[in-house]
Amino acid sequence: METKTNIIDLESIRKDFPILTRKVNGKPLIYFDNGATSQKPQAVIAAIEKYYTLENSNIHRGIHTLSQEATEAYEAARNTVQHFLNAEHSKEIIFTSGTTGSLNLLASSIGKKHINQGDEIIISTMEHHSNIVPWQMLCEEKGAILKVVPINDKGEFLMNEFENLLSDKTKLVSVTHVSNTLGTINPVKEIIAKAHQKGALVIIDGAQAVPHTKVDVRNLDCDFYVFSAHKMLGPTGVGILYGKESLLNDLPPYQGGGDMIKTVTFEKTTYNELPHKFEAGTPNIAGGIGLAAAIDYMNKIGVDKIEAHEHELLSYATKEIKQIEGIRIIGEANNKASVLSFLVDGTHPSDIGMIIDKLGIAIRTGHHCTEPLMDRFDIPGTARASFAFYNTIEEIDTFIHALKRAIKMLL
Ligand code: PMP
Repeated sequence: METKTNIIDLESIRKDFPILTRKVNGKPLIYFDNGATSQKPQAVIAAIEKYYTLENSNIHRGIHTLSQEATEAYEAARNTVQHFLNAEHSKEIIFTSGTTGSLNLLASSIGKKHINQGDEIIISTMEHHSNIVPWQMLCEEKGAILKVVPINDKGEFLMNEFENLLSDKTKLVSVTHVSNTLGTINPVKEIIAKAHQKGALVIIDGAQAVPHTKVDVRNLDCDFYVFSAHKMLGPTGVGILYGKESLLNDLPPYQGGGDMIKTVTFEKTTYNELPHKFEAGTPNIAGGIGLAAAIDYMNKIGVDKIEAHEHELLSYATKEIKQIEGIRIIGEANNKASVLSFLVDGTHPSDIGMIIDKLGIAIRTGHHCTEPLMDRFDIPGTARASFAFYNTIEEIDTFIHALKRAIKMLL
C-alpha cells in the first residue's frame, strides 16, 4: 500500500454501511460497482424503516394525523432535494421513479409541446440508453432528427463539433453530466450556455454526477436536471426531475390519475399546480423520505470531501492498473469522476469479473447500457470498477492483486 487518504474518517464511515461487513465467497466484500448502484448507510435504512413502522399512510388529502405526518415528511424531503440542488422553489422538484422515469416524462411532455417535424434534438456519443432511446422514439413519432455529438479517443465531448451541430432547428439538447462508462465529466455549463444562445432547451442527466460532486442547477442554468436516488446512497425506485418553474408550468402532464388533478368531471379535467401536476398516483413515499436521509448523510460528510477522497482513489487505482501489462483504459478524460473502465489484452471482461468475484470483489462487465459508445471504441464491452467514498486504498491494492491473479489464470 502506497498512500493513505486522510480526507474523511473512513473507519467511522464504513461502520455506517452494514453491508460492508459481509463476506462474499468467503472473502470480505470489496464493492466497486457503485456506478450501477451505491450501498446504503444505516441512516437511510432506518429512515425507511421508521416510515413503515410509525408513519405509514397515504399522503395529501388525508385529514388524520398519520396522513398529515407522512405528507409533512414527504414534502420535507422535497425541500431537502431543493436545497441539495440549490433550486429556487420546492415546486420545481418532481419525484419520479428514477433517471429513466424522468427522461421518459420529459420526452413525452416536451415532445407534445415543443417537437415538430424536422426539429432537431442533440445528444452525445457517451449517453446511457435511457438518454438515447426515449429521444429516438420521439423522433420516430414526430419526424424529428436526432444528432449526436462525437467524442475524442480520450472520451471527451467535442465542443467544436457540438457548435457545428447547433442550429435554429435545434429544439433540445440532452447530455450526461458524468459518463457512467468513461467517467468523463462534461463541461455542462458551457454546453448549456451555447445551446441557450440558439434558443434550445437543455436537459442534464445527472445520474452519475450527484453522488460525486456538488450540483447547483441555478449556477448551471440548466432547464431540467434528472437523477436517481439509488446511485447516491438512497433507495431504488425513486428519482428526481428538476425543472425551471416557468418551463414545467408550460408543459402538459405526463400521466393522468389521482393527485395530478384540480377538478374532474366527465366533460373536462383541470390539472393541479406544480409539483403535483407531474405526480399522478400514490408515489414512492418511503423512497422520497429515504432519498432525503441520503442527502442529509452526504451533507454531514461534505460533498467536497467525498469528491476529494474519490479523486485520490481514482488517481491511485489508475496509476496502479497502468503498471499491469496489456491494460487498456477506456476513458482518459482530463476531468474524470471515479470510474475506471478497462480491457486486458487477450482476455474477456466477463472472465475477469467472474474470477475476481470469487475473491469477493464486485465490478461490472459489459456494455454498461452504452452500446453506441462501445461501437465508437470498437469494443464489445469493458470491465468497470467504480469507486465510492467508503472505498479504501487497501481495497484497491487487493483488487489490483486479484486482477493480476485473474490475468495469469486467463493467459
Ligand atoms: N444515466 C446514466 C448516466 C446512468 O449511469 C444511469 C444508470 N446506470 C441511468 C441514466 C439510468 O438510471 P436508472 O436506471 O436509475 O433510471
